Amino acid sequence: MTQEFDFSQTVKMNLFELTNEELHHRLLNRAAEERRLTHQILQLIAEVDQRKLYLPMAQASLFDYLVKLIGYTPASAQRRIAAARMMQQVPELGSKIENGSLKLTQVSQVQQVLRLVRKKDNIQLLPNEKKDLLAKLENKTGAESELILAQEFKLPAQTQFRQKIQKDESVRIELTLSKEQMEIVERAKTLLSHALPGATLAEVIVNLAERYVRTRVGAKSRSKSQTETEAEIDANAEANAEVETKTRTDQGSTSAAEGIQRQRRGFSQQAIPAAVKKDVLGRSQGCEFRDAKTGKVCGSKLFLEVDHVQPRFAGGGNEPFNLRPMCSSHNKFRYTNGC
Ligand SMILES: [Zn+2]
Repeated sequence: MTQEFDFSQTVKMNLFELTNEELHHRLLNRAAEERRLTHQILQLIAEVDQRKLYLPMAQASLFDYLVKLIGYTPASAQRRIAAARMMQQVPELGSKIENGSLKLTQVSQVQQVLRLVRKKDNIQLLPNEKKDLLAKLENKTGAESELILAQEFKLPAQTQFRQKIQKDESVRIELTLSKEQMEIVERAKTLLSHALPGATLAEVIVNLAERYVRTRVGAKSRSKSQTETEAEIDANAEANAEVETKTRTDQGSTSAAEGIQRQRRGFSQQAIPAAVKKDVLGRSQGCEFRDAKTGKVCGSKLFLEVDHVQPRFAGGGNEPFNLRPMCSSHNKFRYTNGC
């Protein structure tokens, strides 16, 4: 009789006993195993592809087989097929995926671009050219890979504006922003991150438009109190980040505006002057939280708050040298862990 080893049970029993270090290393090891497994799966998929095993199994394509019989989502199946086929021509790809220097999504990006240039310019890359191309994408992010591919194949920038009304009367817009224009939009998104956590680009654009409309005609179309309350929340979210976050957690059953008013009064004696706050957050390269062990700095530009290097309860003041930008997650972490 074989004895099944109940891994899930062991995990449940042991996880809370792990030190932070052990937990981190266990996850690192498992992630490495996952990549090793992905490599093996790609080899198996390539073999199924060679044998056309899906045909006798009544599937019209490898894609159908992976989705219907193996259980991958369409996107996962597509990425694995792209990588398995690329691996046939560039055998090194398997070990690159296994060591994490190349991701399945990057192989997918390459495949899409190759399909495009084949169709457009009738260019077909040789296996060693594909190998060189993949080497250029090693350890790059998705966005970096996209840029490299666009430059490599001189893909023309799409500039035409498309606008299409859909059946639910929503409008689908396709537009091109220059690098500089996109930077401005991203900056607005970052500044709005307190007021609009996790907002999509569309939500950011609509929010900005609403603000503009409000400054011009808003008061006429809304009741006065509603406009004031919203304006107050907005203003608070941007200029008074610290207070706003505290209010959100303390809010309870009272309205946001009431909570903000109360907090504002409570902090009035020690509040950091708005100009100083703006200065600290405005110049910043993002959250300055540093991992004492690795020296790694967070750098997030979302949900930035002003942190006191020497906490206020320990006598720290609002002098600029005692202030630094910190994301709200790290600010809370510092506060609750006393570090
Ligand atoms: Zn941070």
